[in-house]
Amino acid sequence: MAELERLKMYIGGQWVEPCSGAYFETVDPFTARPWALVPRGNAEDADRAVRAAHAAFKGPWRTMHPSKRAKILHRFASLIEDHALALAEIEVRDNGRLLAEMHHQIAYIPNWYHYYAGLADKIEGVVHPCDKPALSYSRHEPLGVCVGIVPWNAPLLLFSLKAAPALAAGNTLVMKPAEHTSATALKLMELVEKAGFPEGVVNVVTGYGREVGEPLVTHPLTRHVGFTGSTATGAHLYSLAARDVKRVSLELGGKSPNIVFDDAAIDDAVRGVVGGIFGATGQTCIAGSRLLVQRKIHDQFVDKLSAFTASARVGDPRKRETQIGPIANQMQYDKVLGYIDIARQEGAELVLGGGRPDLEETSQGYFISPTIFTGVNNTMRIAREEVFGPVLSTIVFDEVEEAVDIANDSEFGLAAGVWTSDMKRALRMSDLLEAGSVWINTYRDISYTTPFGGYKKSGIGRENGVEGIREYLQTKAVWISTADEIKNPFVIG
Ligand code: NAD
Repeated sequence: MAELERLKMYIGGQWVEPCSGAYFETVDPFTARPWALVPRGNAEDADRAVRAAHAAFKGPWRTMHPSKRAKILHRFASLIEDHALALAEIEVRDNGRLLAEMHHQIAYIPNWYHYYAGLADKIEGVVHPCDKPALSYSRHEPLGVCVGIVPWNAPLLLFSLKAAPALAAGNTLVMKPAEHTSATALKLMELVEKAGFPEGVVNVVTGYGREVGEPLVTHPLTRHVGFTGSTATGAHLYSLAARDVKRVSLELGGKSPNIVFDDAAIDDAVRGVVGGIFGATGQTCIAGSRLLVQRKIHDQFVDKLSAFTASARVGDPRKRETQIGPIANQMQYDKVLGYIDIARQEGAELVLGGGRPDLEETSQGYFISPTIFTGVNNTMRIAREEVFGPVLSTIVFDEVEEAVDIANDSEFGLAAGVWTSDMKRALRMSDLLEAGSVWINTYRDISYTTPFGGYKKSGIGRENGVEGIREYLQTKAVWISTADEIKNPFVIG
């Protein structure tokens, strides 16, 4: 077998080997075969990356005029546009997302850099109407070294949601991609070099969470931890960051309800529910994994939903006609199959899928057919725990209030969908649902312009939009005396 390519980490503007000298394989989920070797970073690598980022922050980046920083970010965005195809192909090989979907996603990602580049020189403080003989004004300043830790389901997109606002605000960055999908973040560093970022402004270290992620979080020079991933890991990192009172933003898991009322446009709702749960093979934090259907249309809706889902072509993610690709890695594949067994044991009724597809094309990789359960109630594990795969749990309801109670009866609060032709009802639902995003007659829309984040255990802080850059800024009040003299401090009043 041909020797696998050895990837390198990017620290302080240099391509470097890991201090440990160790590598691990990254696997193509379509073939289940390794295709490259990823550096196994450790605490020493974390230390050199954070120090490089700190030196760059103290040096050129913080003092560079924001308009000049913006130019570099715009250039970087244009380079991503130019290299979209190469990036999409690597992402598909590393995590199995559809090539067609990745073309679209990577063409959209530069918007984050353009948008925040546009904001970089519009971060304005205010002069306060001060009640003392003083001019007092505030400035919004960068924090310093920001650590970004991201999962494997949308590596480049989730990288960019953090990198664009953090850099535009004047911070420097150390990013750690997931161990299963490190290749595109490293490829992106070739474009960081070309765009003209000063050395050390953007760094990428690779490896496992405990070995290199935790040392990044606990490093004394780290000022902000931006984490996207599971709620369990997020809560753990939150407690580590709390020891040094570091700022955090957490984008965590979900178990989002997609609620279909009996007055909904049924065909639209079917498409929205299918896109919500089976898009990206169910591996999205916002997956509409709990389908709540009003009793009157339940049977008709499930029939249409099953027929439409059954028509989806599962197969090679590189083929244009494929509509559902593999699960991104073996661990997740085993986990999803485990949840299908749990649902069966809990008494849910399987109406579609439920295991591997019986196809020659999918015989090697980590494939699971789109799976639909009915007869689920909200106390079952399949309704409460995040599966992060192509498994839909259908729950029936009668009244609006019942739908709201079921929807909100979850430890998560990331997103919710509502399908109805009654706009008053839609608006009332949007008030009552405990979720960071509520979609009415649509699902899974996100944009660089619109805040995104979770209620409850789905997270802390917001990404995207103007709110997104505030996560990476701190406010300083400056006082300048306008008094004629400084009074004797021992004479009060
Ligand atoms: P995960 O928590 O296992 O891993 C995420 C990242 O954290 C990886 O880079 C991993 O290496 C790192 N990590 C793991 N343990 C660590 C530790 N002890 N210290 C430091 N870093 C550590 O999550 P996952 O399985 O890779 O991703 C799936 C999860 O991500 C799901 O729960 C999904 O809902 C969530 N997610 C959330 C959003 C959002 O915006 N809310 C978006 C995408 C995915």
